Amino acid sequence: MKTLLTEEQLRQGIERMAEDIRKHYDGRPLTIVGVLTGSVVLLADLIRRLDMPLRVGLIQAQSCSVDPNRPGPLALDVGLLACDVQGRHVLLVDDIFDTGRTLWEVVPEFDNLGAKSVHTAVLLKKQGRAEVSMQPDFAAFEIPNEFVVGYGMDYRDRYRNLPYVAALEPNERAEE
Ligand code: 5GP
Ligand code: MG
Repeated sequence: MKTLLTEEQLRQGIERMAEDIRKHYDGRPLTIVGVLTGSVVLLADLIRRLDMPLRVGLIQAQSCSVDPNRPGPLALDVGLLACDVQGRHVLLVDDIFDTGRTLWEVVPEFDNLGAKSVHTAVLLKKQGRAEVSMQPDFAAFEIPNEFVVGYGMDYRDRYRNLPYVAALEPNERAEE
């Protein structure tokens, strides 16, 4: 396992992204929606750096696949979304923009729910992986195509607790 982003780098990158988000919304009320599960640590850090009136919601979006290289069909559950998004600015927060399929499928759901605007923010954007025409509106870091863990992101339920982001070596992802 090798460290890709230290705690200090994460702190600085998230502060930069929060500053961009603050400027973009300019004090307007925001509904911030975390995509479970990998985004919860970022979500907690981000909301503490935003100063506009905030509603917070959560949705579940999981690829029904055990192989991280081959995502299966996406299961979307907006049933956890406790806050009303009708007529509101919505910022979707996810851990990683990889192929982009997740956010590409989630954004229209929020258009359908009547959001006034829908934007996306991610901790990490993987370079050269996008399979959709959209890009995240805010991304704290661009990283090479490696499988990463830590800061809320797991490999088979492990490593979420790490305060930094690390890349797993291929042998560390072998079948157990
Ligand atoms: P996308 O739909 O953009 O291809 O995939 C996004 C989702 O796949 C992320 O929200 C994340 O849950 C998962 N994912 C993609 N790459 C990685 C990775 O390197 N590590 C972990 N832990 N999850 C990943
Ligand atoms: Mg995810």
